[in-house]
Amino acid sequence: MEKQYLYDTHIHTIETSPCGKIPAAETVDYYAAHGYTGLVITDHLHPEFLAKVDKDHDWDHVVDLYMAGYRAAKTRGDEIGFDVLFGAEMRFPENNNDYLVYDIDENWLRAHPYVICQSAREFFEKYHNEVLVMHAHPYRDGNLTVFEDAVHGVEMINTNPRHNNWPDRAEALCRRHPEYFIQAGSDMHQVTDRCLAGIITDHRITNSHEYAELIRSGAYDLYAPGYPEYVEAFQKMRK
Ligand SMILES: [Zn+2]
Ligand SMILES: [Zn+2]
Repeated sequence: MEKQYLYDTHIHTIETSPCGKIPAAETVDYYAAHGYTGLVITDHLHPEFLAKVDKDHDWDHVVDLYMAGYRAAKTRGDEIGFDVLFGAEMRFPENNNDYLVYDIDENWLRAHPYVICQSAREFFEKYHNEVLVMHAHPYRDGNLTVFEDAVHGVEMINTNPRHNNWPDRAEALCRRHPEYFIQAGSDMHQVTDRCLAGIITDHRITNSHEYAELIRSGAYDLYAPGYPEYVEAFQKMRK
């Protein structure tokens, strides 16, 4: 059988996310010990984070602080040969929707000061050719406001146990948009959330650009043992 590589696509750290409960290096060790090849650090980049850290209106300083969780994870990953990729979970001022953004790196973030200080639609219109925008848990706790035309795709399966993410609605959304890319992720904040979801591929991916390429290529499967009916629905949509 072909070798398979498993990545979690949605991970928070205590270093950066106000709601993160686990040090990044500990998360890397845990995932490495449980069969994963890598993960994407997607800490919150939202108005609340900005308000907390941006006391002197200095975007480079914001980025320094934002990168802390990723850096800690990457340092540990490099030590043990585990792939740590960079991403962001962005939120814009108009509502509480969260968007997982990939195909970015530190330079991109530094070159786009206060990128979250616009609407989600403005962000997508400006950057849709540069970055991959996936709507995180679009129907979390019954959310009614999804900008369907302002994302490349959706996190159809989000295994965070503290929210009802209405995966049936997310599946219906994907059916309405055959052009959407689809992913699964754990939205890992604390110990109960670890290793519950991700994507499987037949080759290793080592940075955010390669992750976006993989998603665009469609050459992956979803992993979510607690949601077999949705993994199956994804596989059927693919055919
Ligand atoms: Zn959070
Ligand atoms: Zn999240």
